[in-house]
Amino acid sequence: MILKDIVIKQTIDLKKKISKKDAPIAIQLPEGLKPFGKDILKILKDFDPVLFIDPCYGACDIKDDLAKQLKFKTLIHFGHYPIKKKFSVKSIFVPIDYYLEKEDIDFIVKKILEISKTNNYKKVTILTTIQYLKNLEPIRKELIKNKLTVTECRKTDRVEKGMILGCDCSTVTDKDAPIFFIGDGVFHANNIAYVFFEQKIYTISPLNRDYKEIAISLAFIKRRYGVVSRALLQNSQNFAILVSTKYGQKRLKLAKEIAKKLIKHGKSAEILISDYIYESYFIGMGFDCYINTGCPRLTYDDYIRFDKPLLSPTEVDLLFDINKKLEIDQIKQ
Ligand code: SF4
Repeated sequence: MILKDIVIKQTIDLKKKISKKDAPIAIQLPEGLKPFGKDILKILKDFDPVLFIDPCYGACDIKDDLAKQLKFKTLIHFGHYPIKKKFSVKSIFVPIDYYLEKEDIDFIVKKILEISKTNNYKKVTILTTIQYLKNLEPIRKELIKNKLTVTECRKTDRVEKGMILGCDCSTVTDKDAPIFFIGDGVFHANNIAYVFFEQKIYTISPLNRDYKEIAISLAFIKRRYGVVSRALLQNSQNFAILVSTKYGQKRLKLAKEIAKKLIKHGKSAEILISDYIYESYFIGMGFDCYINTGCPRLTYDDYIRFDKPLLSPTEVDLLFDINKKLEIDQIKQ
């Protein structure tokens, strides 16, 4: 089934579940579903729909408060795993489950078995994103049938068993088993590589039918130490601690703790709050180093866009003791 068909089917199903009492509705879509935004609006036209068009990269960016402020009765959020929250308006999460064909499952199983045999792996961890989650169980069963142990993953408040986010790998319980990530693109795979930099990690893309071992970790760790060193070498004194207002990224308490720590070490530290985090918002304010408490991937993937060193909350301690272990920033609820 192609993505458009899945989206249309899920929207028609949703239409049957809501009533006129839920109107007017506001809709949020991940970037990848925006090409179908007009179709969704048409199908739901009886419910006075509008589309919130700001980029939405996760359920961390749920806009129920804005929906309430604008007097919408219901918020419909497509494609992300429901975030735990007391919602301001009725909020419905619409899953976009991608069911793989039997031959795709066979390809994935065959690849995992082949790689495991070559490397003498007796146990593996298999992970995926929300969209492929329903395929994990058939893959797991096939691997077990072929005498490969599949490690047990945990369910948390933010993820189902075996599911990862770009900032959350807490489903993984086994710190030794090689990891096979089933999914497309590098966004999620990179987070696994950041967190488990001593483990073997493979990605298998069901869409492209390809696989590869990812080994970006050493370069990544060097880059992070490079950014911390830059902050040290320039003798940073004036710190901006950046906080996002997005519900699932808002870590104000953490920002306050960091400010206290920096001030204790004789630095100046101010907390800056915005929805999106762009350096242009505070470029002329005289800060020489930034600590990002918003989406961790801004620090790791987009630090290059910032003129001044952009550090994660877990890297602040390295400023005062470079021998401390580098911890990867993950959002926990
Ligand atoms: S905080 Fe960033 S990585 Fe985490 S769910 Fe939100 S957008 Fe994704």
